[in-house]
Amino acid sequence: MQLVLASSNQGKLVELRELLGDGFTLHAQSEFGIADAEETGLSFVENALIKARHAARASGLPALADDSGLCVDALGGAPGLHSARYTGGHGDSAANIDRLLRELDAVPDAARTARFVCVLALLRRPDDPLPLIAQGVWEGRILRQRTGAGGFGYDPVFFSPAHGCSAAELAAAVKSRDSHRGLALAQLRRHLGSPGAEHF
Ligand code: IMP
Repeated sequence: MQLVLASSNQGKLVELRELLGDGFTLHAQSEFGIADAEETGLSFVENALIKARHAARASGLPALADDSGLCVDALGGAPGLHSARYTGGHGDSAANIDRLLRELDAVPDAARTARFVCVLALLRRPDDPLPLIAQGVWEGRILRQRTGAGGFGYDPVFFSPAHGCSAAELAAAVKSRDSHRGLALAQLRRHLGSPGAEHF
């Protein structure tokens, strides 16, 4: 199946391609000259739908969108929906991490709990009335300094107790499988195998 990924985030494209495996060809929306949609929703679900609908309309293909972010308890859930633009510009990870570490400076280790969340939305066509929606959550806490060189975004400051290291220290295949995105995709694959989904 040909699918367009409603994102220009290379990190997401790599992870989702690896996870989708055989049977799916995932195209970056940039291959069709599609620009990012404006994320005006008030939830990850709404933003995932907005992005998928925009890409499906512009490409003529079924579209998969990921809306994800980091929610930090001590910051009331921030940066949350605004994770990519925490410091204003889109996707300046170094500046975003600097701001996060600054905001959490006085917060003790035990209170630095956080989670990565991901919603995936799959639309067969722009006016698909029954999108497939899946979500995944990855629990962790925010480190005091960057650790590890892999991954993208906030990975170097996200400690995963389940793995005993930062997300940026994980092997790519392990992160892809166990992350919020990996969990959401596993759920999406189960939806694809459920009754009704054969019409996809
Ligand atoms: P989106 O493109 O609006 O979904 O932006 C999601 C933002 O959340 C990214 O730009 C990253 O800053 C952050 N993010 C989402 N998933 C991850 C991840 O797996 N690792 C690190 N940061 C992530």
